[in-house]
Amino acid sequence: MTKIKCNKCGDIIEGDKKGTYIECSCKTIAIDETEYYYRIIGNLEDFEVLEPENTRKMFEEEKQRRKEKENEKTWVVCFLSRI
Ligand SMILES: [Zn+2]
Repeated sequence: MTKIKCNKCGDIIEGDKKGTYIECSCKTIAIDETEYYYRIIGNLEDFEVLEPENTRKMFEEEKQRRKEKENEKTWVVCFLSRI
């Protein structure tokens, strides 16, 4: 399961594989996850992926890539990916 941490309230939330929409307590980030995909809702800078390792790496690389482009600093994104 995909596990993410909110950088604002510190909550750790986890997909349940049933597609339930789960928000952190400050509603900055959310996740829903099924057998086929996971979706993380929020600003990239507002959360960290804890698990699984390959997803964590992917997001770290994406953060790094965007840091290098100053003009891409502000965005609201929805990440959708097949598992
Ligand atoms: Zn939060």
